[in-house]
Amino acid sequence: MKPLEGLAWTNRFAALGADFFTELPAQGLPDPHWVARSPACAELLGWPADWAARPEALAALSGNASWPGMRPLATVYSGHQFGVWAGQLGDGRALWLGEVDTPAGPQELQLKGGGRTPYSRRGDGRAVLRSSIREFLCSEAMTALGVPTTRALCITGSEMPVIRETVETAAVVTRVAPSFIRFGHFEHFAHHDQLEALRRLTAFFIAHHAPECADAPEPAVALLKKVALQTADLVAHWQAVGFCHGVMNTDNMSMLGLTLDYGPFGFMDAFDPGHICNHSDDRGRYAYARQPSVAFWNLHALAQAFVPLMDGEQEAAGERLLEAVEAFRDRFASQMLGRLRAKLGLDGEQPADQALADDFLKLMAASRADFTQSFRRLSRALTHPEPLRDLFIDRDALDAWLARWRPRTAPHAQARMLAVNPAVVLRNHLAEGAIRAAQGGDFSEIDRLLKVLSRPFDEPALPGDAALPPDWAQSLEVSCSS
Ligand code: AMP
Ligand code: MG
Repeated sequence: MKPLEGLAWTNRFAALGADFFTELPAQGLPDPHWVARSPACAELLGWPADWAARPEALAALSGNASWPGMRPLATVYSGHQFGVWAGQLGDGRALWLGEVDTPAGPQELQLKGGGRTPYSRRGDGRAVLRSSIREFLCSEAMTALGVPTTRALCITGSEMPVIRETVETAAVVTRVAPSFIRFGHFEHFAHHDQLEALRRLTAFFIAHHAPECADAPEPAVALLKKVALQTADLVAHWQAVGFCHGVMNTDNMSMLGLTLDYGPFGFMDAFDPGHICNHSDDRGRYAYARQPSVAFWNLHALAQAFVPLMDGEQEAAGERLLEAVEAFRDRFASQMLGRLRAKLGLDGEQPADQALADDFLKLMAASRADFTQSFRRLSRALTHPEPLRDLFIDRDALDAWLARWRPRTAPHAQARMLAVNPAVVLRNHLAEGAIRAAQGGDFSEIDRLLKVLSRPFDEPALPGDAALPPDWAQSLEVSCSS
């Protein structure tokens, strides 16, 4: 293996030109140290096992050095935040380093927390250790759950103070994805009447990330439909694991249908469809049960941005775009039902399955039963119903439901259910334990959790990793501040 400095970098995005970004070097972390690394992500990149032992790795991934071929740049995008047009945003603290060739195809690397950019507005361009640990662990945990997501290669840290509600310390996460292009990139050029740039971006995205759309009669319509379907798949998967994104602004929506920009996200403990994981979301726009309709709303914002790309009469063109977005509905419904059938271990498909699943969720909500544990314990309920019953207040109602469910279960339902209903998800209190240890200088809990979270369907060696949250977890608050 060549030294990392000898990696071949391409940067196809940079070829788009100056309308799309500002090139600038990272502002490195002073006196950086390693906080965490993901062996699975390094493997995806095809990097050697000792990659992190090389001094050039720490220097570059803390923003202190550049390898030949990297072209650090911050991209410009806009977007709708909490349903309102927010104007120009952009990579305020993320720096795009370029693309590396990997066995899994070209992957972009991005530093998050590498200093101010022209798009930082009032921000300091930094990320704190706390939120970096959350993003790192959740990116890798979602991957192991099978949920599409950007990846995280590593965290580098520093004693450099960063001011949030309190004084914290700075960190940089290296993120990896085939593309970090967001809905907001398209909205930006549409809103600013930069039609030529909008066309170039669309052609670029189709050429590199959606080539099958190129030959469609209307490539923009085909692309929008593809994004709608991928987004439906993504959100159905979120709902099925009880994941709340927290800030589904259009600038946080990936054109590849990846989970993107981990901020105040959360996996639900007690099931509440109205659960709001983001303390700053006082009106609950991004509550758990609203995620599908918000995704649909966001797709309409993307459709709006595609209007100038369309030929012919504008109203009819708009209709065709709306039709493409409509594809979200059926796809989400069928994906969601498919995931629920699998979670319930059902045999084949019957019309009453939706009601069966909905009724279980209603019982869970009425008892505020733990989301992850309810499905995990249900997986064993054919032979051991008691642990499941312990989670419910109205046991008669649960028993009545179990009597409907049992005859619908497939052969080997237990094994099949245990393979789709995780034992371990990144509950807030688990992340918090790793964060508190790291803030005290001990990073070993991050590594330990990473290992556990990379096998989410196995019973963890420490039962506490799968257990119901402790009482102190109730008081944890997660806000946009990161
Ligand atoms: P987010 O809510 O984290 O998705 O960020 C929304 C916008 O604020 C994006 O343009 C970010 O780049 C920017 N931003 C968030 N935090 C910071 C920060 N600490 N410094 C600079 N820009 C930031
Ligand atoms: Mg964002």
